[in-house]
Amino acid sequence: MANFKLLLLPGDGIGPEVMGQAEAIVSFLDKQGIVGFSVERDLVGGAAYDAHGVAISDAAMDRAQEADAVLFGAVGGPKWDKVPYQHRPEAGLLRLRKDMGLFANLRPAICYPALADASSLKKELVEGLDMMIVRELTGGVYFGEPKEIVTLENGEKRGVDTQVYTTHEIDRIARVAFDLARLRRNKVSSAEKRNVMKTGVLWNEVVTAIHKRDYSDVTLEHVLADNCAMQLVRTPKQFDVIVCDNLFGDILSDVAAMLTGSLGMLPSASLGATDINTGKRKALYEPVHGSAPDIAGQSAANPLAMIASLAMALRYSFGEGKLADALEAALADVLAAGTRTRDIAAPGTNAVSTTDMGSAVLKAFQKRL
Ligand code: NAD
Repeated sequence: MANFKLLLLPGDGIGPEVMGQAEAIVSFLDKQGIVGFSVERDLVGGAAYDAHGVAISDAAMDRAQEADAVLFGAVGGPKWDKVPYQHRPEAGLLRLRKDMGLFANLRPAICYPALADASSLKKELVEGLDMMIVRELTGGVYFGEPKEIVTLENGEKRGVDTQVYTTHEIDRIARVAFDLARLRRNKVSSAEKRNVMKTGVLWNEVVTAIHKRDYSDVTLEHVLADNCAMQLVRTPKQFDVIVCDNLFGDILSDVAAMLTGSLGMLPSASLGATDINTGKRKALYEPVHGSAPDIAGQSAANPLAMIASLAMALRYSFGEGKLADALEAALADVLAAGTRTRDIAAPGTNAVSTTDMGSAVLKAFQKRL
């Protein structure tokens, strides 16, 4: 049995509470001999600052670099609002992304039938929705230089951000999208603004060329990013995988996320390049939500985003697609049975605790195996 190195970074607030539920599933898989894990734990965010004076220690970074996958909870909270900027809790996450070279951010948007009524769109538009946004995470306008505010001779100020992409950056993110599509419904929609942006022209050219050369079995469509936003709220089920740059991905993934209801339901993965020697890729899996200080310590947090992040790790880092399917099906079973944490419970109905929701998923998962 393979023995995967898994690093758990629970973080702050509800991070440790939701991580506990994912950890219970990891330890079940390990104890039953289904997947072997060697699990390490470390601090990140405010917890790391309290212990070491930094948002992530060098030792924790070394562990993350060595791990087959990192599971990350959430960081931040009012306790650390006044710590020096470079040591703020989020700096731990940014360092992980940067030092591990996690350039591909994957955000699935899945609408569980039992929650279709909770969407702001009509039930029939979102029921059964299952799409993936692949966002370039380390380039584009958030990082391009110059990036500045200058004062002009007439006293007026001018703010500048620079959108830059190289062939290599577009090539590698497009490959992630095409590879993913092959594991799904085999369709990629590439979103850019080639009508007004040079980076959009280059994006379009590179994606088209890679498709022709290496992925002609996958259906490719090009869509202008603004039209993509419109289509997402008009007929979201037309999409399988959407690939886009950092800025458009930031916006489109939030739109897609909200099609599905609560923040407590949304997992994500950030992947690095595949090592040509080992065939492995660095990876970090985390819920989209933050540390929710308003409900921390009450066992009221929804652990489903964290558990769904573990399902992504099973699929993309541990080669256990069938187990990932079973775990995702278990989430759907629990929801279909009416089990709800407070964030997804209808007003006036009973809500279960974080641990009860975690136990219900584990039980449903065991039944599915
Ligand atoms: P948040 O995601 O923590 O919370 C927003 C709202 O959603 C809150 O009302 C919260 O109770 C609710 N919520 C979030 N996750 C939930 C869950 N699993 N179950 C039930 N309800 C849930 O965002 P925020 O309030 O803007 O930020 C709080 C802290 O988290 C801040 O310090 C912020 O910087 C940090 N943050 C961290 C991350 C991260 O670690 N990746 C992401 C976003 C925000």
